[in-house]
Amino acid sequence: MITSETSTSKATSYEPVIGLEVHAQLLTASKMYCGCGADYADEPPNTRVCPVCLGLPGSLPVINQAAVELTIKTGLALNCSIAEATRFDRKNYFYPDLMKDYQISQYDLPLCRHGWVEIEQGDLSWRVGIRRVHLEEDTARLVHRIGPNGRPYALVDVNRSGVPLMEIVSEPEIRSADQARLYLMKLRAILQYLGACTGSMEEGSFRCDANVSVRPVGSTELGTKVEVKNMNSFRAVYRALLYEVERQRQVLESGGQIVQETRGWDDTRGVTVGQRTKEFAEDYRYFPEPDLPPLYPARAWVEEIRARLPELPDAKEERFVAHYGLSRYDAQNLVGSSATADYFEAVARQYPNAKVVANWVTGELFRLLNATQTDLGSVRISPAGLAEMLHLLDQGVVSQRLAKQVFEEMFRTGKSAREVVAEQGLTQISDLAELEAKVQEAMVAHPQSVADYRAGKKQALGFLVGQVMKSTRGKANPAVVNRLLVEKLGK
Ligand code: ADP
Ligand code: MG
Ligand code: ZN
Repeated sequence: MITSETSTSKATSYEPVIGLEVHAQLLTASKMYCGCGADYADEPPNTRVCPVCLGLPGSLPVINQAAVELTIKTGLALNCSIAEATRFDRKNYFYPDLMKDYQISQYDLPLCRHGWVEIEQGDLSWRVGIRRVHLEEDTARLVHRIGPNGRPYALVDVNRSGVPLMEIVSEPEIRSADQARLYLMKLRAILQYLGACTGSMEEGSFRCDANVSVRPVGSTELGTKVEVKNMNSFRAVYRALLYEVERQRQVLESGGQIVQETRGWDDTRGVTVGQRTKEFAEDYRYFPEPDLPPLYPARAWVEEIRARLPELPDAKEERFVAHYGLSRYDAQNLVGSSATADYFEAVARQYPNAKVVANWVTGELFRLLNATQTDLGSVRISPAGLAEMLHLLDQGVVSQRLAKQVFEEMFRTGKSAREVVAEQGLTQISDLAELEAKVQEAMVAHPQSVADYRAGKKQALGFLVGQVMKSTRGKANPAVVNRLLVEKLGK
């Protein structure tokens, strides 16, 4: 027999260590250091600009108070301590999308630090530390094109330059791609609840860079880390982490060494690609921003912001379990976004059985949203509409069998349950005379089954019920059909 000693001494097993840096665009009316609108997304290029965000010499920045407030709010929601004294710093580097050739960011005195986020999977839960939350500004956007001569060129759209950006840096306490996904989903939910950020990875309002290393299981030291960039969806982050952890494991197992570097995720090929090594890492030459005053957030202001915090996902989950009697699983699913949680509650206010509501929302509604790649914001079934459908279901106007079909039609067309069943003739047939005729027909058409039933083969009943359901195209009320058949067959 192989002892466990010999089997483990051969191969070292490695565990992943992951720390995430998230950039979230803040939902303020104006930009971080000027009065330009921050709602640049649907505007024509270069129409949301002024001397400040264009980086013109002699222009002076002003701190956006709403952005500071949203960052403090976020810090509080992430259990951070809020700095009594903080300031902005210049981070110097050159790139065509950086209008001033420096970014006004925060360096050694971030607004918030030392917090944590709780993530949970089923009944397990654990904390991921938050190292810091600070404020900075977004860059302009480069649009890459190919010219008529075949040469590439880039266009600069300055609308995004100066949009408030909040950076949230975790401790290296994430241990798998799964946990990273849970962390990001929880973080995004919290930001959405706070109204701090739309949280769209696809639109780039919520971006994530991942720092990854591996180390022998049992070791408490950190291995050399690699920073992975360019992931534009939750799925991309997940895949990139699986890939990168495996790549590092293989390098180490074949006797190689990890070099500290920045790698980019190539989503099409499903690999990370080396971009620059530490040798070429930038030296940002940070120094305090001389054009902005230091900030001393008053404790009274911080406490006033704390008092205005909305109910956050964890608290909502507890309330959904306690108040509505939902399972932990359903509650977790529903509080994943404030929109979903609000939708559920709006239906539950109009329909007494909250568990049924939870089933429909996390089941059919989520399935259709997924299949059509839409979000709840554009859903055409109002909470009142779903509540009405559930009431009609209880009354037997909509049959259990056809409910999903009716719901799907409501989802597709925005029509009410009543309209759908009327138009498509899906109203359940509970009319006795009509059903009696159908039952009679089925018995006449299948004398053998009738004889079988009367001879004691009770399973023949199921067949006959099926025939009636078929001839009514599923609209018969199965309970009534069953009762009628038992009556007639018994004669
Ligand atoms: P840098 O100075 O390169 O930005 P930091 O120490 O500030 O590095 O950490 C940046 C991010 O990298 C944080 O999220 C942190 O948790 C994570 N991190 C730091 N060291 C490691 C490591 N060895 N493995 C994985 N993640 C790490
Ligand atoms: Mg960094
Ligand atoms: Zn501006």
